[in-house]
Amino acid sequence: MSVLRDIIERKARRVKIRRYDFTGKGGIEADPSYRGRVGLKRELCIGCSICEKDCPSAAILMVQDEKGKRPVFSLDRCMFCGQCKESCPTKAIYISSELLLPVFDRRELEVR
Ligand code: SF4
Ligand code: SF4
Repeated sequence: MSVLRDIIERKARRVKIRRYDFTGKGGIEADPSYRGRVGLKRELCIGCSICEKDCPSAAILMVQDEKGKRPVFSLDRCMFCGQCKESCPTKAIYISSELLLPVFDRRELEVR
């Protein structure tokens, strides 16, 4: 079925069509167990690189900054498996339940 025909049929049946909420403020909430955007508590990271080695998607790259080595996550490669969180010995990685990931600029998919 074409998208256009589907929309027309929904209109005819008065099915309410909501605009996609890019703001994240439209009341779309994920279950707390949902694995969404990966995050890093920088102060806990000891730069061991275990997360980079264990990531099955090669979504983590260790980089050097003024405080030492740290992971950078590429969410466009991440499959949200949670392995990095499990592997991190210092609990520096967390998985949020944030489910709205579309962006216009690919650089916004880098978590530093
Ligand atoms: S959640 Fe999985 S795929 Fe994503 S960065 Fe962590 S280990 Fe890699
Ligand atoms: S596994 Fe944890 S402590 Fe080690 S580099 Fe990754 S985030 Fe840092």
